[in-house]
Amino acid sequence: MLPVIALIGRPNVGKSTLFNRLTQTRDALVADFPGLTRDRQYGVGRIGPGPYIIVDTGGIGSAPEGIEALMERQVQLAIDEADHLLFLVDARDGCTPEDLDISQRLRRLGKAITLVVNKSDGTDPVQSSAEFHRLGLGDPVSVSSSQGQGVRSLLDQVFERLPEPDETETAEDQPGIRVAVVGRPNAGKSTLINRLLGEERLVTFDLPGTTRDSIFIPFERLGRHYTLIDTAGLRRRARVHEAIEKFSVIKTLQAIEAANVIILVIDAHQGIGEQDATLAGHIIDSGRALVVAINKWDGLDADQRETIKTQFARKLAFLDFAKPHRISALHGSGVGLLLDEVDQAYASATRDLSTPVLTRLLEAAVQEHQPPLVHGRRIKLRYAHQGGRNPPIIVIHGNQTESVPETYRRYLINRFRKELDLPGTPLRLEFKSGA
Ligand code: GDP
Ligand code: GDP
Repeated sequence: MLPVIALIGRPNVGKSTLFNRLTQTRDALVADFPGLTRDRQYGVGRIGPGPYIIVDTGGIGSAPEGIEALMERQVQLAIDEADHLLFLVDARDGCTPEDLDISQRLRRLGKAITLVVNKSDGTDPVQSSAEFHRLGLGDPVSVSSSQGQGVRSLLDQVFERLPEPDETETAEDQPGIRVAVVGRPNAGKSTLINRLLGEERLVTFDLPGTTRDSIFIPFERLGRHYTLIDTAGLRRRARVHEAIEKFSVIKTLQAIEAANVIILVIDAHQGIGEQDATLAGHIIDSGRALVVAINKWDGLDADQRETIKTQFARKLAFLDFAKPHRISALHGSGVGLLLDEVDQAYASATRDLSTPVLTRLLEAAVQEHQPPLVHGRRIKLRYAHQGGRNPPIIVIHGNQTESVPETYRRYLINRFRKELDLPGTPLRLEFKSGA
């Protein structure tokens, strides 16, 4: 599971600026799909010694509304679930009474905290950070979130203080295809999981000696192995029942990271909303294979069915690689087919693509539609090979590839996608110049 780092501090100290810097993605890898919205509160960061989940808790102050904000359910949940807190203060403003107040409350949480003095650009870091020692949170770390100074070294320091990962529960050790069922609250995830597990032979669920809260649930179907990643706290809910929050963005993100294939459950009775689009955005960023389950298809009239189809095509156009499947988790219709789709998506995501085949496809695509001229010279694309699986990455070598326009990149992706027939997985292109 990825470590969780939460950003805390009063408004305007630079939390969202730091969030953006930490979640910055390598442009060549993650495409900006039309219609895709980014989550500005939760993200997976990959600059640093390892990947991590970063949460921007929003503005927390000592004013009454600030205290309320701290108590707000999801913020509180994020802080509870965080492995490390980054408490941001502002080098320009100096140490304010609000900072003192927040630091007192944070210390009471008993969590690992790093004090971060932001906006240290154009200041003498030693001088501007000195006064923050009185917050009693140890040596402050100076950064400039907008310029990027100190951010890498901040991450190195945070990673040194993170708890050791649980070696016995790594995702890679789980048998078969790792599947995560995600979706907004009440979409029907638990109903679907229970049906999947109830109908198939369960291998080790609740074996004596494995009563620990494992989030990995292995099961078998038609001789094939799967591991379900439990985000809904199914196992725990029986014991702690209502007390625990069913839905957590952080657990969802961790499950997406740990999975090979995601089943995104959409509630047809509610229609496709903001939260569905945001979850879909996280899935796209992860590059995982995807099966979309439009749940609660039972009991819809013809008009409602039409509405869902239109909404899906319009709001989730960027999921065009995953065909939506209508199911009823409650009645079981369509559920068996879902695992066939999982198999297929996994096969697409992990397929071996040979260099001659990819190069031939590239040549044909270029022949039909040349890349544009840049400074009077034509971009040359020479050959292609596979650079990764789950998601498949196609690396294209040539000249001036850094100037390949977005439209041409999309053209190539669509060509590869069509010719290679890769249902259920996103496809990534990487360009390399020279040699
Ligand atoms: P938040 O309310 O804590 O999320 O703060 P924002 O990230 O929105 O930043 C507040 C303001 O501070 C914006 O105008 C940012 O451009 C600016 N800012 C953030 N980080 C830095 C920094 O490292 N240096 C400077 N000079 N300005 C910064
Ligand atoms: P979760 O929060 O995503 O885990 O959702 P649950 O599995 O707890 O389901 C939320 C509610 O939707 C429950 O009342 C379920 O009985 C209901 N539900 C789940 N699947 C279906 C379905 O296929 N059809 C109908 N009509 N209701 C469903």
